[in-house]
Amino acid sequence: MYAVYHGPEGLKRIARRVASYTAVLAAGLKQLGAAVIDGAAFDTICVNTGSTTDATLQGARDAGINLRRASDASVGITLDETTTREDITLLWSLFGNGRALPDFAAFEKGLPPLIPLSMARSSAFLTHPVFNRYHSETEMLRYLRSLADKDLALDRTMIPLGSCTMKLNATSEMIPITWPEFANVHPFAPQDQLAGYELLDAQLRGWLCQATGYAGISLQPNAGSQGEYAGLLVIKAWHESRGDMQRDICVIPESAHGTNPASAQMAGMQVVGVKCDALGNVDLTDLRARCEQHQDRLACVMITYPSTYGVFEARVKDLCALVHSFGGRVYVDGANMNALVGVAAPGEFGGDVSHLNLHKTFCIPHGGGGPGVGPVCVVEDLVPFLPAHRSAGIGNGTQVGAVSAAPLGNAAVLPISWMYVRMMGAEGLQQATEAAILAANYVAARLADHYDIHFSGEIAGLKGGGVAHECILDLRPLKDSSGVSAEDVAKRLIDYGFHAPTLSFPVAGTLMVEPTESESRAELDRFCDAMIAIRAEIAQVESGAWPREDNPLKHAPHTAEALMKADWPHAYTREQAAYPVASLKRQKYWVPVGRVDNVWGDRNLFCSCVPMSDYAA
Ligand SMILES: *Cc1c(COP(=O)(O)O)cnc(C)c1O
Repeated sequence: MYAVYHGPEGLKRIARRVASYTAVLAAGLKQLGAAVIDGAAFDTICVNTGSTTDATLQGARDAGINLRRASDASVGITLDETTTREDITLLWSLFGNGRALPDFAAFEKGLPPLIPLSMARSSAFLTHPVFNRYHSETEMLRYLRSLADKDLALDRTMIPLGSCTMKLNATSEMIPITWPEFANVHPFAPQDQLAGYELLDAQLRGWLCQATGYAGISLQPNAGSQGEYAGLLVIKAWHESRGDMQRDICVIPESAHGTNPASAQMAGMQVVGVKCDALGNVDLTDLRARCEQHQDRLACVMITYPSTYGVFEARVKDLCALVHSFGGRVYVDGANMNALVGVAAPGEFGGDVSHLNLHKTFCIPHGGGGPGVGPVCVVEDLVPFLPAHRSAGIGNGTQVGAVSAAPLGNAAVLPISWMYVRMMGAEGLQQATEAAILAANYVAARLADHYDIHFSGEIAGLKGGGVAHECILDLRPLKDSSGVSAEDVAKRLIDYGFHAPTLSFPVAGTLMVEPTESESRAELDRFCDAMIAIRAEIAQVESGAWPREDNPLKHAPHTAEALMKADWPHAYTREQAAYPVASLKRQKYWVPVGRVDNVWGDRNLFCSCVPMSDYAA
């Protein structure tokens, strides 16, 4: 959006100004007698400060400027588009020892930038129209609005994506990250300027340890998967510290999230699979067999609790004890903590290491893939192996080292989770967990007469048992009876104004629904009503009233354009396509594109840039 708003000309203007100010700064410093190191420069120069380096850095700090210690005898100065003439004058005065300061305006007019001509770019860039249109605030506002109109986001509908925990990102949680006190702190600012962040980090770590039952935690990993990677490195380092260099096998059940085996491979471990039983639990007989088979090399078993099948493994304590009896450690993937906080703690039921997804359970928004925080938590004897960070003095130099460039990882979004925990309190967090589990079971119960609920555990009182925080709707039988697939249902839900649930994960041909505690009873009912209405549509196909290849499910989602064509060749009416339930007449999301052929798209990459001929026009 920065590029869209400024466009190629704006970016060049910004860059030229930065380069020009850098040249002005360098020339002024030289005139004042400072030992500027000569050479090509865009935004950064270095000054030899010799034995005065510490005094120079301190003098700058006293004036409100953080300079970089480039070496023990030099400092680095970097400008950007927020740098003003006053900033440069202040920098001059710091190096000027009371001498008269140069004339900024005269320098600015006469000085070429310090970028060598041979490096000047002459080719065009950002030529797509999107970078050449929206350069006023009015235009930009309308462009953003037009994009939002295409989006089926949380401001219109629940996003029932199982395993993703798409919950409320409350405004009061989000606001603090816009405060300059949090937003404008550099991750490598001097320690004495980071007291606030350090307090926030310490408090949040303490609360998360309480929530998980673990003894130690690092907030450094920037994603759940990075937390997995860090946690597995911890386990590996622990084995190695005991001389068990050969322990490199990570046993993972088939229900695991795809990141688990990927992280194990990245950590240099070898992955061995283990089966699940008909109820979705890890098959303990098979697990014992794997542990026996690999007992000399077993490093750990990596489970998810509750699992991505949406079940609480009733025998998880036995599972952990079994792994421990073979000398392995238990990694509990904690991405599903939304079903646990305040109710159970992996650090108490036998887990040794877990990661959390603060961008799921702890409210950091994560549509579009980031920014995430995936803290890694460990039991007492593994605390010395947690990630360290030399430049920030964190940790004691263990072999795991830093897993993120910045000492506190994605620190700028931590206030969101801090606010969530602080505002909810222990009681509120437990209520949220209970409400999330209740919501999933409500959906499962309402839909159980219409769809098969896969892997519902042994909780009494509900047809087919109970689920954890999400439930899997098995559509495979309907594929046989009607030809309608899980994908058709996912697409049809868009016509009903819903974001699709998770499709074909972790079981192909199914939809996984995670409502979270954030959805009201009314929204849950709106979703269940839509799913039940869709089941009735499938029945129409089963009965032959609609052909298998020409029904609203196969052609969903329906664009306004398709519906308004004079020619309507289908076996169902336009009204059935657009308004299958009456409430849609009052509030309708119009999808911007119709059915996309996913497989074809995955196999045939193409550039969606407009062709050059369009630019001429
Ligand atoms: C989301 C998720 C992950 C991965 O987290 P990222 O932040 O996307 O890397 C791992 N395991 C489970 C069970 C998850 O749901």
